[in-house]
Amino acid sequence: MLSYKGYLDKIREESKNTYPLKNPHNNELIEEVPECPDELMEAAISKADDAFQSFKNVSSHERASILDKTAQIVEDNLELFATTISMESAKPIKFAKGEVSRTVETLKFSAIEAKKLEGESIPLDAALNGKGRDAYTIYQPIGVVGAITPFNFPLNLVVHKAGPAIAAGNTIVVKPAEQTPLSSILLREAFVKAGLPEDAFIVVTGEGPRLGQVLLNDERVQKITFTGSPQVGKLIKSQAGLKKVTLELGNNSALYIDQSFEDQIEQIADKVVVGAFSYNGQVCISTQRIYVHDRIAEDFIKHLKNKSEKLNFGEPTDESTDYSSLINEKSQNRVFEWIKEATENGAVLHLGGNKIGNGIEPTILSDVDPSAKLSCEEVFGPVVIVNKVNNSQEALEEMNHSQYGLNAGVFTKDLKQALLFGHELDVGQVLINDVPTLRFDHMPYGGRKNSGYGYEGVKYAIKEMVNRKLISLNYSY
Ligand code: NAD
Repeated sequence: MLSYKGYLDKIREESKNTYPLKNPHNNELIEEVPECPDELMEAAISKADDAFQSFKNVSSHERASILDKTAQIVEDNLELFATTISMESAKPIKFAKGEVSRTVETLKFSAIEAKKLEGESIPLDAALNGKGRDAYTIYQPIGVVGAITPFNFPLNLVVHKAGPAIAAGNTIVVKPAEQTPLSSILLREAFVKAGLPEDAFIVVTGEGPRLGQVLLNDERVQKITFTGSPQVGKLIKSQAGLKKVTLELGNNSALYIDQSFEDQIEQIADKVVVGAFSYNGQVCISTQRIYVHDRIAEDFIKHLKNKSEKLNFGEPTDESTDYSSLINEKSQNRVFEWIKEATENGAVLHLGGNKIGNGIEPTILSDVDPSAKLSCEEVFGPVVIVNKVNNSQEALEEMNHSQYGLNAGVFTKDLKQALLFGHELDVGQVLINDVPTLRFDHMPYGGRKNSGYGYEGVKYAIKEMVNRKLISLNYSY
């Protein structure tokens, strides 16, 4: 049976120190996790580099087969993966199961893309003095990929890095979030069981700033792929030197609802409940800033409130739980303080605003000052702010008035308006007639401004993990 225990024991033996990993909901100890020393990270990079020397010669079909088998193993162990995610991150089990299913898809897409790394043929004979030459490009793996991942999707966001890395023929060293190391170790075990060489995927647990520095400083690491906060993302970019870098960062996602949806406002409220409060708003594209046409705003708030107050708070592993605890006390206090700051400066509180267990109640506010943290920053908690606007132009300007640019959503039945928002919103992905909290694992996915640099989505991530090489053939001899 798949288990993280054996690997954890092994790296614990090699580490002097450990830290207690506690369930964020009930504070129960789950495991003593190794605080891996720098030397262990260096050894991991050496092993991954050695493994690359042979793995780079494994055929694309064989890599695809390993990825497909891993998908099957993860699917067969869905309950185990979901319970592990739920325990370490306090993600309600129904959302944890959703994450595991998405992981299976991401692995299957990686298997498909492994077989489709196609180059181009370039007719050099057309160029001056180029008579008698053809050329073509191929993609080659780059070597060791260093992945640094966040706590909120501790499985699927590791797969968004490991899947493309393995598909391309690279090896990978993963530094998971301190709060959620177990699901990434389980994933590694699934890969190894599927036939991946032991050292082609190594997990190193412990402090981000210290171990991240070792990854960044090591010249054998050819690429850093990071998902996490903009603060850390900026630091990584400034220290990465000539390494390739992908940064998937935060957002304070905006949504506009125009008056053409007046008769379906209740259905939209249903979607917003999911977009704003799934996994307690700890989602990079959680619906946070909502702009609603003045004529329908009160009706929208009424429905949103009615639906949100029915959500159940509880144990993350309980099937009936809709929302649970935040990842830690620091996060709970921060979200609570931001709500307080808004209400002290005139915001109207329609629902929530209180602490509950180690979490925060689903919270709905309106009339929030544009300079309040809830308007300007990423809340990463179960809070939405509703702003009334008079027209679409006002909505567009407000939505773009943000340091972030990942996803945005628009509900409108007016085609011209939909196209305008599609073109003018300064974000990576515009979702028309959907909330911004939408991602399919094969679509290109990347942010602008403080939301990121580079793209994920398997097909696109692979292109950022390979070197293109041109080979020219002189056939005049
Ligand atoms: P975080 O930035 O605190 O930590 C992310 C990872 O970086 C962890 O593994 C951590 O140990 C490591 N780290 C911390 N300091 C480091 C340093 N100085 N050098 C190297 N590594 C370091 O983020 P988090 O709290 O785990 O996750 C929440 C953030 O992630 C939010 O901002 C959220 O929007 C973002 N996120 C973005 C996406 C996306 O696809 N754009 C997806 C999920 C989460």
